Amino acid sequence: MFISFEGGEGAGKSTQIRILADSLRARGLDVVVTREPGGSPGAEAVRHVLLSGAAEPFGVRMEAMLFAAARNDHVEEVIRPALEKGSVVLCDRFLDSSRVYQGTTGNLEPDFIETLQRIAIDGTMPDMTLIFDISAAAGLARARKRADEGATPDRFEKEELETHEKRREAYLDIALNEPRRCRIVNADQSQERVTEDVFSFVEPLLSK
Ligand code: C5P
Repeated sequence: MFISFEGGEGAGKSTQIRILADSLRARGLDVVVTREPGGSPGAEAVRHVLLSGAAEPFGVRMEAMLFAAARNDHVEEVIRPALEKGSVVLCDRFLDSSRVYQGTTGNLEPDFIETLQRIAIDGTMPDMTLIFDISAAAGLARARKRADEGATPDRFEKEELETHEKRREAYLDIALNEPRRCRIVNADQSQERVTEDVFSFVEPLLSK
């Protein structure tokens, strides 16, 4: 089973992934927690470049191709082998991040993005995608708080409120277009409530 987690900055994905992983492991399931960009040694090397100042001179197309190259390596080296073994894969960001970040706010044509995704994932689609929805203001406030607590904001986290709002809408559009795969999680609630919502979406998938 393959579940991806999506959403803007400060939506609380990583905390919920940790909680879900612990609970699934307690039930005896083998769980692989991974993230993008990165998740495999090759893709982590690309992540390092993409999220650092070294990527400043890259154009948006080059950037999108690098995200896709990293995704392909991650799929081939980590995700597909884990799924073949019967593990549950929980992935922090996947192809929808490229649709939203490089497509919508990078202003790249949907065709270009979709072609790259087809090559990158090579048929490995999430069974379910949880889209963590939070207002841009609340998400950014959380991301800033995290930065004050010592996490270094990456170059993508320094962007404007308006950009975040556009991304939020783009995620909601994906959910509307692919209702069988996507579930919207209201991330602007207490951590406990969000956990309850996450479980309510994942549970039916486990009993299949
Ligand atoms: O999930 P996390 O916030 O750690 O993601 C790292 C950064 O990479 C984010 O700031 C996100 O904006 C950016 N990103 C991106 N395009 C993707 C995936 C992630 O711009 N396809």
